[in-house]
Amino acid sequence: MSNSGFTFRRVREELIENLLDLGIKDFRVLDAISQVPRHIFLDEALWSRAYENRSLTIGYKQTISQPYIVAKMTELLISHTNSRGKIFERVLEIGSGCGYQSAVLSFFSEKVDAIERIKPLVQKSRDNIAKLNINNVTFKFGDGYQDWDSSVKYDGILCAASPREYPRDLVSIMKNDAKLVLPVGGTSQKLNVIKKCENDEIEESYHDEVSFVPMLAGKSDDGNDV
Ligand code: SAH
Repeated sequence: MSNSGFTFRRVREELIENLLDLGIKDFRVLDAISQVPRHIFLDEALWSRAYENRSLTIGYKQTISQPYIVAKMTELLISHTNSRGKIFERVLEIGSGCGYQSAVLSFFSEKVDAIERIKPLVQKSRDNIAKLNINNVTFKFGDGYQDWDSSVKYDGILCAASPREYPRDLVSIMKNDAKLVLPVGGTSQKLNVIKKCENDEIEESYHDEVSFVPMLAGKSDDGNDV
């Protein structure tokens, strides 16, 4: 298997043009997406579709997110900053699936803590990230509603599964100015951005209509409870 920078080069360039057309403006995000080979996160049978702007199956009834959504959520997470490189010390990702979004986040934070509730996906994401020689992401098998370290304060939290309401506890592990970016809702979902301000106040804003898997409580050894 080749994962050289030249693999699928033309379709990767087309994906970036497509994201620009769809309104992704932050070149830091486009640059990170252009550097992450998305096919590595998929079964070989899906490689020919890896650079289409669509979600694709990763097994266990879960999907790799659409590139536009990964780009949009990352853009929202970092939009209050303008430096380049690793602008954050620590970011939390909930619902890391195959690890694609984690790879994109690894460009923006010294350390990425990722939590996933389906055990085999945790191993899959570790294998995928190791293939890319990314070494600042730690994957944990756990429930994103509670299995994070409450003594850590994050510069940003990105969640790729949809709760009915945003988990209020997450605000307690955010630094001031940090944002929580996540879909909220059931059959109808919107991307929400929760910004933590001074005195534990929050600012909420609502963005694109989206369609994510539900954020489920508890862990699963095989994904059969989904
Ligand atoms: N971030 C992935 C998308 C994964 S889909 C990407 O880069 O493409 C969303 C994931 O959220 C699924 O793998 C699902 O198992 C997981 N999930 C759902 N509820 C969760 C919870 N409470 N804690 C952690 N992960 C959860």
